[in-house]
Amino acid sequence: MEYNDDQKNVLKILKSKDKKFLMAAPSFPIDFNYSTFVALMKKLGFDNVSELTFGAKIVNHEYREYINAHKDQEMFITSPCPSIVNLVKNKFPEYVKYLMPFDSPMIAMAKIIKHNYPKYKIVFLSPCFAKKLEAKNSGIIDATVTFKEMKEIIENEKIKAPKKKDYFDKFYNEYTKIYPIDGGLAKTMNAKNIFKKSEMVSCSDCIKLEEIFEKNKGKKFFDLLFCKGGCIGGPGILSKESTNLKKKKILDYKEYSEQEVMGKKRGLNKHLEGIDFSAKF
Ligand code: SF4
Repeated sequence: MEYNDDQKNVLKILKSKDKKFLMAAPSFPIDFNYSTFVALMKKLGFDNVSELTFGAKIVNHEYREYINAHKDQEMFITSPCPSIVNLVKNKFPEYVKYLMPFDSPMIAMAKIIKHNYPKYKIVFLSPCFAKKLEAKNSGIIDATVTFKEMKEIIENEKIKAPKKKDYFDKFYNEYTKIYPIDGGLAKTMNAKNIFKKSEMVSCSDCIKLEEIFEKNKGKKFFDLLFCKGGCIGGPGILSKESTNLKKKKILDYKEYSEQEVMGKKRGLNKHLEGIDFSAKF
C-alpha cells in the first residue's frame, strides 16, 4: 500500500536512532485491544507509551482553579476539542473570551513529555483530523496518525502483538479515562461541585452551536465536543460500531484498568515543575 505523508513521517521516526514516545488519545480502546496495546506499540518501535489521562487530570485542575477565580464570569466553554474552538472562533467571535484559556490534554501531555524527556520524538495517535492539525501547529509533537492510519501501518509492516504484558509510562491516571465520552470532562473535573446542575450543558455532536447557545441562554458551563458521542465518534476511528457500544468499550477499559496495574506509577506533581499550561485563543 502507498502510505500518506503522515504515515511516512511516523515510519521515518520509527526507523531513526531517536528515542520515541507514543501518546495515545483516550479513545484508543475503540480500535485497539487495550490489554495488548502497549506491547504492540513497543514492538512497532516506540520506547515509551502513554495515554493523555495525566494531561487531562492537569487540565481539570487548571479549569477548577480558573473557574473558582472567575466566579463572576458569565459563561465558560471547554476547549479540548479543536473543532469546537474553531467553530467558536469563526462563528461566535464574541464568545472567544469564554473559551477556557488552557491547553487541551493532548498539548498538556506533550508539554509534560517534552519537559521530562527532552530528546524524545513525540508521536500522537489521534481519533480525528482536527487534532492532527492542532498537533502539527503545536511545534512540540513530531508526527500524528489517526487510529485508522496506525492500523494500516501495523498491518502493512506485519506487526503482531506479543503475548507478554507491557505497561503504560508513569504519566497515568485512571478516572480521566472517560474523557472521550460525552460529558466526561464535566464529570471528571467534578463540575457539579462548582455549578448547579441547571447551569451546566454537556453535549456532543455539537455541529449546530448556534442552537445550543440559543436553547441554553443563561447557563454557565458548556462542556462541548464536536463528534457524535464525543471523541469516540472521531472520523479517524476505524470502528463503525454504535455509539453505545463504543461507550461501553471505554467504560469496560476503565473498569479493567482499576483492577489491573496499567501504569507503573501515577503522574506526580514533580513532573510538572515550571510548565505553563495556559493557552490563548
Ligand atoms: S470531538 Fe471529534 S473533532 Fe473534537 S477532538 Fe474529539 S474526535 Fe476530534
